[in-house]
Amino acid sequence: MAGVTVRLDEERWQAHLATVLGDTPAVVPVVKGHGYGFGLVRLAAECRRLGVGTIAVGLPSEVGVVHGTFEGDVVILQPYDPADGLARTLTAAPHVLTTVSRLDDLRGLAAGDGRPRVLVEVQTSMRRHGLRPDELAQAAPLLDDVVFEGWSIHLPMREEGRREEAERLARTAVQARLGPLWLSHLPAAQVRALGEELGVDVRARVGTRLWLGDAKGRTVTATVLDVHPVRRGERAGYRGRVVPGAGWVVVVAGGTSHGVGLEAPTSATTWRQRATALATGSLGAAGRALSPFTLDGRKRWFLEPPHMQSSQVFLPAGATPPAVGDEVPVELRLTIATLDAVIMGSSKN
Ligand SMILES: *Cc1c(COP(=O)(O)O)cnc(C)c1O
Repeated sequence: MAGVTVRLDEERWQAHLATVLGDTPAVVPVVKGHGYGFGLVRLAAECRRLGVGTIAVGLPSEVGVVHGTFEGDVVILQPYDPADGLARTLTAAPHVLTTVSRLDDLRGLAAGDGRPRVLVEVQTSMRRHGLRPDELAQAAPLLDDVVFEGWSIHLPMREEGRREEAERLARTAVQARLGPLWLSHLPAAQVRALGEELGVDVRARVGTRLWLGDAKGRTVTATVLDVHPVRRGERAGYRGRVVPGAGWVVVVAGGTSHGVGLEAPTSATTWRQRATALATGSLGAAGRALSPFTLDGRKRWFLEPPHMQSSQVFLPAGATPPAVGDEVPVELRLTIATLDAVIMGSSKN
């Protein structure tokens, strides 16, 4: 099938998963969203095979998606919103753990009829969600009226000061109420050390490092859909722009709907680099962008911005053009890409 395909070396992938599971305490695999490019259900099936007891999804609606594939406990990472009917319904499901990130929402759940299983999120320097450390003492008495499963701490990726922050927040939380710590983005050794230091169970939530950590174990390719020779001065593309020279216009599967041309958030350094590129009048500033497709051994320039499901790429004269139907390498970040097919294979074939 023509499209954008990821091929996983299955044995190698599973060996990597086993390694992460082996060196990380009580892993809670995160399977939210588009399932890190592989799909939620595939990852849920992998979690069942791995025999983990608990997984984490992002949204209440994803609980139903993995239902029937994974039978264990499911954490909803997005904070509980009492205005969301499904989130309210799920507080009664015995296998669902609800993350609560506001004191008022915890009060509401504690005052309700049931006894939902609850993780209470502590706000970190990310300033995303969670109770402030000074609110934790107020939260503690409410925990008698829910099934308190632990404290959730979602740390920034930035390493500087992260261990100290984790320790400070975890200590404040555990002093308010003894309970397990559910941590994200903290190295395994630090998770383990924190648990030992504070005398509580620890769980490490892992997504990207688990599912995408072994980049060499996979290839992502796109199908060549068409190849057209062009002469110098000819025009091509929606915008009818003059081609950069003689060569070929290669039409490759993979467009904006696959995440081609999308970039993950950039750092300040990169913005600075961009400003430099603009100032120096590079090809990027001239409206040309390097495509993620490799043709004849090199990344090639887009002829124009990617279309929805395909891209036009310019291959200069002198290169060897691909044939229609060839699969060419494409570099995509799977955290933001949508693929047409996932193929599990063996490196031994
Ligand atoms: C998405 C998410 C994770 C997983 O993040 P990765 O960087 O993919 O490991 C962990 N914890 C929380 C709270 C999340 O929302």
